[in-house]
Amino acid sequence: MTHVFHRHLRNTPPVAVAASGMTLRDAAGREYLDASGGAAVSSLGHAHPDVLAAMHAQIDRLPYAHTSFFTTEVAEQLADELIRTAPEGMSHVYLVSGGSEAVESALKMARQYFVEIGQPQRTHFIARRQSYHGNTLGALAVGGNEWRRAPFAPILTPATHVAPCYPYREQRADETPEAYGLRLAGELEAAILAQGADRVIAFVAETVGGATAGVLTPVPGYFKAVRAVCDKYGVLLILDEVMCGMGRTGTLYACEQEGVVPDLVTIAKGLGGGYQPVGAVLAQKKIVEAMSKGSGFFQHGHTYLGHPVACAAALAVQQVIHRDGLLAKVRDDGIAFGQMLRDEIGNHPHVGDIRGRGFFWGVELVADRGSKAPFDPARAVNALIKKDAMARGLLCYPFGGTVDGRQGDHVLLAPPFIASRQDLQKIAALLAESIDAVTRAAA
Ligand code: PLP
Repeated sequence: MTHVFHRHLRNTPPVAVAASGMTLRDAAGREYLDASGGAAVSSLGHAHPDVLAAMHAQIDRLPYAHTSFFTTEVAEQLADELIRTAPEGMSHVYLVSGGSEAVESALKMARQYFVEIGQPQRTHFIARRQSYHGNTLGALAVGGNEWRRAPFAPILTPATHVAPCYPYREQRADETPEAYGLRLAGELEAAILAQGADRVIAFVAETVGGATAGVLTPVPGYFKAVRAVCDKYGVLLILDEVMCGMGRTGTLYACEQEGVVPDLVTIAKGLGGGYQPVGAVLAQKKIVEAMSKGSGFFQHGHTYLGHPVACAAALAVQQVIHRDGLLAKVRDDGIAFGQMLRDEIGNHPHVGDIRGRGFFWGVELVADRGSKAPFDPARAVNALIKKDAMARGLLCYPFGGTVDGRQGDHVLLAPPFIASRQDLQKIAALLAESIDAVTRAAA
């Protein structure tokens, strides 16, 4: 009998007792190869000695100080490091304890910015379908995962949801990727105009979609066109890089590859690599200036803002990424990983699409490749893959997203950046075995 309120209330997961590098071990002595870094969190793998040492040193020096009284050396150092490596124009870092908190903070920062500059009539957010921005009420309101939203929909702040950038399903046969991107930006413009251009606070999007539709990489030019639409109407662009940021796609920020700079960007997961709960919002100078010249106060806050041990872990993770050249490694090995996946499962009759960048890959499973029909949700193919893969010693991150209002099955792969080519090959091979075993039974 467990007293822990597990997310699945009818079964208790295995007890993890140890982890090192690419491997976790459970109480029964079984070992698991970590192909998803949890949920795209463990960028440096487990028990990295440099991160552990930085955390121990911080605990010995100063384990906690509340931000209403103090700042700390380590929070200042982390913010300096993040601004040094941030997209141009970012001037300040708001340090929180995770992704949902980062998104909530960004939404409130955006709203308060407009209050400060005399546009309090801006009250509406526009976001995308098949997106995920966190489970707290504000983040859930902008999120577009129907399943997660459903029980809470009546108590969520209204937001408009436009189409995600999902070429596999939504780019027309007679459309180039560029034309598709422009069409989507046009849909955003129409949504802004439908609300009233002076009523919209921000457009919120994951730069590379993660947990709801299985790694959606934007088509070329999409985000540039989106940025132009936002600028035209004075709407802020909030990019959520909680999952795809901090090197996951081969550049520190995924938006670097799109040639756009958002007004606010949220990060978490890979920021602390799982060693501590930590997230952040990076804000453009104009937002911070409006607040500092206006009320002089951001009307928000949490008890654990800028927690020193979390900051020490995040700083160490970021330093290791740069010192060990891991961004270049993720770019190079990511190309090889994509090829391994295509070689192993590219021709599988139930693999509809394989897409990704760097160490961030999604596999979309379908009942029928020709029609792209998803599996019947009652078969719970994604849950079966998770179970089967674990039995084979592989941790991957399958889930059901929504496809045309129905559930679709995806597998997300986000290995730690330290994964060797042999690890990547083993991941691809084990996943192929699982997909084959489960889809054979489900077909
Ligand atoms: N935003 C994105 C893009 C995410 O993928 C997630 C989590 O998966 C969140 C926000 C929420 O982060 P957290 O679970 O740390 O609250």
